[in-house]
Amino acid sequence: MAAKFNMNPLKNPMPTQDPTVRNGNFDEVALGYTAEMAIDEAKRCIGCKNRPCVAACPVNIKIPEFIAKVAEGDFEGAYQIIAEDSSLPAVCGRVCPQETQCEGKCTRGIKAGCEAVGIGRLERFVADWHNANCTVQPVPAPLNGHKVAVVGSGPAGLTCAGDLAKMGYEVTVFEALHVAGGVLVYGIPEFRLPKAIVQKEVDNLKALGVKVETNMVIGRVITIEELKEEYGFDAVFIGSGAGLPKFMNIPGESLKGVYSANEFLTRSNLMKAYRADSHTPIQHGKCVAVVGGGNVAMDAARTAKRLGAEVHIVYRRGEEELPARREEIEHAKEEGIIFDLLTNPTRILPTETTDPRDPAYGWVNGIECIRMELGEPDESGRRSPKEIAGSEFVIPVDCVIMSLGTSPNPLLKATTPGLETLRRGEIAVDEVGKTSIEGVYCGGDAATGAATVIKAMGAGKVAAKAIDEYIKTSKATK
Ligand SMILES: Cc1cc2nc3c(=O)[nH]c(=O)nc-3n(C[C@H](O)[C@H](O)[C@H](O)COP(=O)(O)OP(=O)(O)OC[C@H]3O[C@@H](n4cnc5c(N)ncnc54)[C@H](O)[C@@H]3O)c2cc1C
Repeated sequence: MAAKFNMNPLKNPMPTQDPTVRNGNFDEVALGYTAEMAIDEAKRCIGCKNRPCVAACPVNIKIPEFIAKVAEGDFEGAYQIIAEDSSLPAVCGRVCPQETQCEGKCTRGIKAGCEAVGIGRLERFVADWHNANCTVQPVPAPLNGHKVAVVGSGPAGLTCAGDLAKMGYEVTVFEALHVAGGVLVYGIPEFRLPKAIVQKEVDNLKALGVKVETNMVIGRVITIEELKEEYGFDAVFIGSGAGLPKFMNIPGESLKGVYSANEFLTRSNLMKAYRADSHTPIQHGKCVAVVGGGNVAMDAARTAKRLGAEVHIVYRRGEEELPARREEIEHAKEEGIIFDLLTNPTRILPTETTDPRDPAYGWVNGIECIRMELGEPDESGRRSPKEIAGSEFVIPVDCVIMSLGTSPNPLLKATTPGLETLRRGEIAVDEVGKTSIEGVYCGGDAATGAATVIKAMGAGKVAAKAIDEYIKTSKATK
């Protein structure tokens, strides 16, 4: 008889493409578990009573229950359990920072030398199995006669839309771009999250009755006020994200060949720059500097590498302080990305020509940097980087990608009278996502600033519940 539990202290490793092959293609890096590997990994879960993994998941997926189904080989049963709480499992299984959430609290990972159960890998396996094998379409709920508008089709908007549709609301998602999915399609590269997977999740929502209107910039084409007053939406959810990039304000940032990471990734992702038949206006640099050390910087660097460049990550702190996920840093290193740590840009240098008719005029030709050292720890133990005088040097690059963070776009604030925002442009909300305007809710990066997919989904869920209560109460009192 097969053993009930698998007491192996380590996770089943995730099969991946060879780094020297994958750094030249855009196919998915991680290949996913087989059914045997998934069952074996699921048996590492001991189904502990206090279930710390569930509390650490922002949408409280019933993790031990779905894993128990996987251990039994009932993959559709596992999917149905996940689907009760998450509308984007194939996405979350791939991109959630599980190490700081569910897996960070897993009892199996507490002892030194032991690893948590591979919850994310199992979630991914179950969602992929369902998408490959299940042909049953979700059935739309009977309509309750009320309409809700959702602004933005990222994880916050899609989750809110899905939950409301399941409650019987007629939901329309208005998306500024020509394709739905938010950062999941225009930010996260194909090799980490294939676009077909996001499309499948969007199609599942459409099957629930959610309408998606693309090329609709709310605040320009229609205002929020008009959605309520003229188009008859009972409530509006804003999930417009945080797509406004930050720059360093150093000389040379307006040269040709300087991108924000958002622009670079959007062009690469949405216009399929990696395809031989693409005519994308994106630079395939020979040598690229990516400034920053977060997940977005890793995505931009690994994309530039796949487009044929030598790539440097330029980051002013040390290895320990790199904010990107460890897995992403390791993957980037394996793929040949060069890490220039304790290094800070001081200016971006142009080509030498001064003749505006010369095609080389006004392009990037290098990035001047200064070496840094870490100072003494402050009260919180944090060591701030300081410049080392006279240590300037130049990295000869023809493209610079700034990846220094983003903030919410000010358009909705500017076009929605009475919509209150915080210091960095985040839309002000209460704990259930209620904004300063009656019937208008908000969640995800638009309310928190740049965060994570699962946090945006969690906010979408909470707001959907609050919108349902608001509509029921306000209609009852009218
Ligand atoms: C390159 C990159 C990699 C990332 N990697 C990860 C990761 O691995 N794991 C993780 O958890 N998180 C990751 N994140 C963060 C994560 O993607 C975001 O936190 C999440 O997508 C936020 O979801 P959202 O729904 O709030 O906004 P978004 O995903 O930004 O979606 C907002 C949508 O609203 C649309 N919109 C904006 N304004 C309007 C308007 N006026 N009218 C209509 N539509 C509008 C936008 O076009 C967009 O489609 C990454 C982010 C980036 C940029």
